[in-house]
Amino acid sequence: VNADTGAPTIFDKIIAKEIPSAIVYEDDKVLAFKDINPQAPVHVLVIPKFRDGLTELGKAEPRHEEILGQLLYAARIVAEKEGIVDGFRVVINSGASACQSVYHFHLHVIGGRQMKWPPG
Ligand code: 5GP
Repeated sequence: VNADTGAPTIFDKIIAKEIPSAIVYEDDKVLAFKDINPQAPVHVLVIPKFRDGLTELGKAEPRHEEILGQLLYAARIVAEKEGIVDGFRVVINSGASACQSVYHFHLHVIGGRQMKWPPG
């Protein structure tokens, strides 16, 4: 495993279950839990349990390809579990200008209401 030189984030404590979260899906590599500040009736975050340097999509490297695919497929499992598989949005904020606030890679799975396009 490569060293992860990034600072710890709140998601480390959520993964360690040191702070509680409403878990929707979990396997050995992926954790999905409800966003504390939901932007829609369904708003779930999907994260890798091992960050391995993947702080933001813009810093992804070839070794992250497999986990990126697993996270995207987990988003589909979350959508099914949450009853929104017929219509949902997956969002990745990468970097400050995209409003990323937690530097541990995550997908937002959002649904349960009519979405607008383009996003703000
Ligand atoms: P970003 O802005 O980085 O794309 O998204 C980070 C998300 O993490 C935000 O939607 C924010 O509400 C959520 N978040 C931050 N801290 C916590 C927390 O302690 N628990 C949960 N469940 N979500 C959090």
